[in-house]
Amino acid sequence: MNVIDPIVQKTKTYFCLDCGVCTGSCPVSRVSDTFSPRLIVERSLYELEKLNDETIWACLTCARCSERCPASINFPEFIRLIRDEAQKTGFHGVPAHNGMLQTIMAMHSKEIHQNRISWVDGKVSEHSDTFYFVGCRPYFDVIFRDIKAGSIQGARNTLRLLNLVGVEPIVSNEERCCGHDALWNGNLDLFKTLARRNIDLIRSSGARQVVFSCPEGYHTFKHYYSQYFGDLEFEVVHIVELLSRKIKENSLSFNPLDETVTYQDPCRLGRMAGIYDAPREIIRSIPGITFNEMERNRENAVCCGASAWQSCSGYSKAIQLDRLKEAGATGAGTVITSCPKCAIHFNCTINAFELEVRTKELLDLVAEQAVIP
Ligand code: SF4
Ligand code: SF4
Ligand code: SF4
Repeated sequence: MNVIDPIVQKTKTYFCLDCGVCTGSCPVSRVSDTFSPRLIVERSLYELEKLNDETIWACLTCARCSERCPASINFPEFIRLIRDEAQKTGFHGVPAHNGMLQTIMAMHSKEIHQNRISWVDGKVSEHSDTFYFVGCRPYFDVIFRDIKAGSIQGARNTLRLLNLVGVEPIVSNEERCCGHDALWNGNLDLFKTLARRNIDLIRSSGARQVVFSCPEGYHTFKHYYSQYFGDLEFEVVHIVELLSRKIKENSLSFNPLDETVTYQDPCRLGRMAGIYDAPREIIRSIPGITFNEMERNRENAVCCGASAWQSCSGYSKAIQLDRLKEAGATGAGTVITSCPKCAIHFNCTINAFELEVRTKELLDLVAEQAVIP
């Protein structure tokens, strides 16, 4: 039996109707003549997909296709499992940034000692019900400083907001990469090693909930940690869920802001986790703000154009330019997003093409506008 057959069985791609809705929905197919999810599925069914087929690395795993597929085929999951087999036989995608991020992921599986909480300027605790999982922000801040896209301020602002609503969380030097990118780069073994370390760390801390300021960490814990390790014994919460709850309880209010903004749904928070309303409720609760939706929003939103720090190409830039143009067409000066990576990728293109539109993380906006009693 070839290695593709079990993946076809597991993901039920044999239900494919050959309708082409996936290819018609795909942002990569829109800018590339050679990439078609329909053809990848077809080849896997009839011609036995070759593991060295380069097209398997071009997918952004954004789930725009699977959201619309009439046969409910989960194409991102199908491609993830194929990548895992390809990686085992020595085929892999082209890492962005000379593989710096992949090297950091691999280092995190070893016995390393990090000083990763020196950014802390708020109240934290060694014993708390809440663990703040900071994720890659401390590394991003160094790597992307030259494109003005560091994101450690997002960690400071998350802590500030948690303190504001009365939470003094645990933050830890022992935290490891969540494994999201290893998972989607086709390195399941590395993902499992990282996940095991994080689960053990959080369980030993005694925390009952883990708060994320990153959709990828959130979705990876919520969906894939549970899938591979069972009941986590702690709750997984994205900061936008917590903030929108606090606004409804009148525990958080905002100073007015005279600005027009739009919102980019991150794929992991939107299509994959179904969180569309909370960020919009937060934005709309800021007095004076004008919120205009992009034409393609919520389930129809388009990915920020790069995924898991691999295969960033001219296609990524074309997708980003198109998306930022769509954002500008709303009359907004700022694209708000709930994902540090969306902000980095957009900033990369905004800087490279000297675009007028700006991007900002939602939690930064919230921290700037929050009323401090
Ligand atoms: S949308 Fe679904 S059914 Fe249609 S071609 Fe794509 S995978 Fe097949
Ligand atoms: S997951 Fe996104 S990038 Fe990949 S085939 Fe589907 S629509 Fe295209
Ligand atoms: S778009 Fe993202 S992955 Fe591509 S070069 Fe810019 S920062 Fe790197």
